[in-house]
Amino acid sequence: MLQIKGIRKVYKTGSLVQEALKGVSLNLRDNEFVAILGASGSGKTTMLNIIGGLDRYDDGDLIINGVSTKRYSDRDWDSYRNHTVGFVFQSYNLIPHQTILKNVELALTIGGINSRTRTARAKEALEKVGLKEHIHKKPSQLSGGQMQRVAIARALVNDPDILLADEPTGALDSDTSLQVMDLLKEVAQDRLVVMVTHNPELAEKYATRIVTLKDGEITSDSDPFTPEEGEAVHKNLGKASMSLLTSLLLSFNNLWTKKARTILVSFAGSIGIIGIAMILAMSHGANEYIRSVEEESLQDYPLQITDASFNLASLYTDSMSAAQSASEERDDGKNVEEWRTLTQMLSGVKTNDLKSLKAFFESDECDIDDYVQTIEYDYNLTPRIYKVNDKGDYRQVNPDISFSALGFTSTQGTTNGLLSTLSSSDSFFAMPEKEDLFRNNFDLKAGSWPENYNECVVALSSNGRVPDLTLYAMELKDPKELEGMIDAFTQGKTYDDVSELGHYSYDDFIGIEFTMVPASSFYTYDKKYKVWTDHSSDTDYMKKLLQEKGESLKIVGVIQPAEGAATSSTNIGIGYHHTLTNHIIDQSKDSAIVKAQMKTPDIDVFTNKRFDDNSQDSDVDMSSLFSVDEDAIKDAFNFDMDGLDLSSLDLSGLDFSDIDLSSSISADDLGAV
Ligand code: ADP
Ligand code: MG
Repeated sequence: MLQIKGIRKVYKTGSLVQEALKGVSLNLRDNEFVAILGASGSGKTTMLNIIGGLDRYDDGDLIINGVSTKRYSDRDWDSYRNHTVGFVFQSYNLIPHQTILKNVELALTIGGINSRTRTARAKEALEKVGLKEHIHKKPSQLSGGQMQRVAIARALVNDPDILLADEPTGALDSDTSLQVMDLLKEVAQDRLVVMVTHNPELAEKYATRIVTLKDGEITSDSDPFTPEEGEAVHKNLGKASMSLLTSLLLSFNNLWTKKARTILVSFAGSIGIIGIAMILAMSHGANEYIRSVEEESLQDYPLQITDASFNLASLYTDSMSAAQSASEERDDGKNVEEWRTLTQMLSGVKTNDLKSLKAFFESDECDIDDYVQTIEYDYNLTPRIYKVNDKGDYRQVNPDISFSALGFTSTQGTTNGLLSTLSSSDSFFAMPEKEDLFRNNFDLKAGSWPENYNECVVALSSNGRVPDLTLYAMELKDPKELEGMIDAFTQGKTYDDVSELGHYSYDDFIGIEFTMVPASSFYTYDKKYKVWTDHSSDTDYMKKLLQEKGESLKIVGVIQPAEGAATSSTNIGIGYHHTLTNHIIDQSKDSAIVKAQMKTPDIDVFTNKRFDDNSQDSDVDMSSLFSVDEDAIKDAFNFDMDGLDLSSLDLSGLDFSDIDLSSSISADDLGAV
């Protein structure tokens, strides 16, 4: 029940003081269809906005279910607007670039429900207003009447007790107006509908009660209502708040002595227990909502702690303030100051001790598990995956090397987690350890979810498409085409031979197999030079390795983001089971090269030199490029080496002492093992 008691509203614009409402009193039943009639400027909109909490009154009181709103905080008003009232405006107020489904869904403020339920509720509301067929259209593709019905669905999706409509048919032709009025009448079956109109015929035909306003005062009311004084009204308290109140009292039962409880209850009674329940319900509802939003967005953009990080935001704000302070001083034309963008960025990079952090997370003194859904560890480890054909010819598909010609490097060995995520062009991604998180937001379209390290799924985009890069990886499209396109691109030409847009069935994906080998198997020990040698670019070696040591990685299912689920592009492509990472770690741990390296932690097994040896700093060991044959020099110049005045020649930059012909492999390569 809504009680409007002597409400006054004054608008002051400069020296002009306009009294829009001059002490209006009106009691509204929980269930009726009230039309507010009146000429333009009579105060109809002002009254409706005050009822809906969109505008504040200057004097009087708005009493909601027996609770005065005089001391409502902004938060209380927010909650009231979000949970108790729904609005429909003359101008629809739809978001133009969103589908109507999204428009309705966005209005859903009830917390604690997942995105799938939210979508279902929005669809239900749209079905109720007869727009089931149009949910994927944008507002501009609808007629005025249809747009107004979307607005009504949007207002109803939270199932409010009160629906407020300000000239809802003001922009519609008479036929469409009747349809919208029919709908409002239906809506008014089980709630309070207050509609502002200047059309007496519509009011007469549809409303159960007509209130007329003139110059900010009520001049007539067809069906006045006087509630009994002090009547206890509980009806409009939603289920959630009642059960919350109940559970609150129940928990007090356990915690408090009877005496304390009596004091509390009488205290609650004196300030209005309904108010307390409402406020609790509000904060509860809001928290739930925030939690569900957090859950969703954190899943896509989880909090990441990387070994090296810098604060992008601070970089941005620093540059903003730098730009500003400079502009204040530069008037004299002589004061051009250095702007440290790069310096600031590089000095802002911090390194984190992730090993200690992990140990702390896993220790007893850390209770982070109570606050997070899951903690997952990323070892910056990229499985080596190949597509091998019948003849044993192979193509590396992960890390993806298609773009290496363009200067994009794969994620391998990158120490900066931030940059590697941003620049990754790989089709393959690891599915999270916490499977529920993922499965709740994806529908299994065909096959099954991966259960083992050697199983993977094709993850489609939310509109059910598969990226071309993934198709090339699966060789459903000829990778030669991709090579051709990249070649053409690097030469500044256009590639004309693009194949037709592909269409596939789920069955085309399921059963496709890839071959994996651990990166550690690329290396063999060279007894002669006592170093490990990389064979990953030796085609024959790799062919044999893949044939003999390769393990299969098989596509077992097809998944697609559930409707309404928020997902990011990093989850499109081919998802492999999280245990693959551990599998690779185990394989590497047991490999000869890793064992050899672990045995001599200070000596680089690729060069047999100490890691801190300075000559390691440069990838190119100068000495290995020269081989000096003194006899040949003598012959060529025909002079006596001993008689040469060496002081005129500066050879100090060249180190001939240790001529080493082994190829030089940088320590970074180990990062990929
Ligand atoms: P109605 O909806 O019946 O046409 P309103 O409630 O919009 O009337 O306006 C009532 C009176 O209050 C009008 O005289 C109008 O000029 C004035 N008014 C409404 N809103 C404002 C405002 N935001 N600022 C100043 N005056 C306003
Ligand atoms: Mg108006």
